[in-house]
Amino acid sequence: MAEHTTVIVIGAGVAGLTLGNILLRNGIDCVVLEKYPREHVEQRQRAGTLDSRGVRMFREQGLEEVLAHDASTEVEGGFFLDGEELPIDFADDAGDSLFLPQQVLVRNLTDVFLRAGGDLRFEADGITLGNLEHPVVRYGDRVLTADFVAGCDGDRGVSRTAFPAGVLTRYSREYGYAWLSVLAEVPTNPSGMAIHARGLAGMIPRGAHASRLYLQCALDDDLARWPDERVWSELEARFGRPVAPGRIADKRLVPLRNVVHSPMQHGRLHLLGDAAHIVPPMSAKGIHLALFDAEVFARGILRQVKEDDPSVLESYSETCLSHVWNYQAFAAWITDLMHDAGDASYAGEFRKRVARAELERQFTSPAAGRLFAEFTAGVA
Ligand SMILES: Cc1cc2nc3c(=O)[nH]c(=O)nc-3n(C[C@H](O)[C@H](O)[C@H](O)COP(=O)(O)OP(=O)(O)OC[C@H]3O[C@@H](n4cnc5c(N)ncnc54)[C@H](O)[C@@H]3O)c2cc1C
Repeated sequence: MAEHTTVIVIGAGVAGLTLGNILLRNGIDCVVLEKYPREHVEQRQRAGTLDSRGVRMFREQGLEEVLAHDASTEVEGGFFLDGEELPIDFADDAGDSLFLPQQVLVRNLTDVFLRAGGDLRFEADGITLGNLEHPVVRYGDRVLTADFVAGCDGDRGVSRTAFPAGVLTRYSREYGYAWLSVLAEVPTNPSGMAIHARGLAGMIPRGAHASRLYLQCALDDDLARWPDERVWSELEARFGRPVAPGRIADKRLVPLRNVVHSPMQHGRLHLLGDAAHIVPPMSAKGIHLALFDAEVFARGILRQVKEDDPSVLESYSETCLSHVWNYQAFAAWITDLMHDAGDASYAGEFRKRVARAELERQFTSPAAGRLFAEFTAGVA
């Protein structure tokens, strides 16, 4: 016998768990299926902050407890150019935004969902999805049917592959470089992003005793070429000031790209978050977009189920894509601005001076500054 539910959510990341919690609080049946074990999902470290819009959204949904975190590090950081710190005050732009590591948010969302009686199934491996008009989801020997499916399974998930051939268009931009992304057990000092002829560098707090370190590198770079000593010496060179080394817990290479899959719905299957779009991490807007999609989709389901009104669901893709493209534009702008200052083939010195002018304009022109602040706060 197939089990039936109103919404099957595939993937227990930020998008899937936020959606599951909103639906559950509003009395809508749902089942969340996650491929990996709980420990794996809760330890995956990526983003570190939640923007103002995200914080307000959780409060408005009555989910303030998912924001709980014991470290009190404030969102902070500056811009450095050739070792000089530009006089830019981030704090005013941050508004309500919160230091909240992604794995803490995911852990909190999981706890709240399970405590409220939510149906969350880890290790649901080998999911297949068929008949998008009357969705049927299979994994192992289980068969589930649903009125709607939310594909929240990230860029490498299975949901997108269920779209019939020819329906989806993939728009993308590859930057031709990558970030070496490092997790280190040291306090963050200095804190912020540095533009330098050797490439971009970043040092962002992940609590009082840990930092995420970023170094722009070649797309075909190799972790073997980045022993710990080289990570610390490159950070010092690019920030132009001493950096105290510490234990490095993790290193990986992340290619920078923008991706949008359009449309974000077909039949009763809807894509949310990274399953539908990727922004380069320089913009720090991946979580913002995942939460936006989850909120719009949840509103659509509530309107459909409670008022028999399909209008919000029918325009889900259109509503989200207009927001997604707005943030893709911001992500492409800030990524271009901060990189390639040292690329001789790409007029690096010229670009560096343009970057200084642009950054200074953000903080001296009320109009430009307002727009930058609106994007960083997530309210643009
Ligand atoms: C190094 C790095 C740094 C980043 N920094 C930032 C940042 O500073 N700020 C920011 O906002 N964003 C950042 N991001 C992006 C952010 O992490 C993502 O945008 C965000 O995780 C998207 O949430 P999601 O729920 O859509 O996808 P995910 O968080 O990827 O969740 C997808 C879930 O689906 C599960 N899944 C996958 N396949 C299947 C399957 N077949 N069946 C069932 N379940 C499946 C996965 O295990 C996972 O739990 C960063 C990303 C990286 C890689």
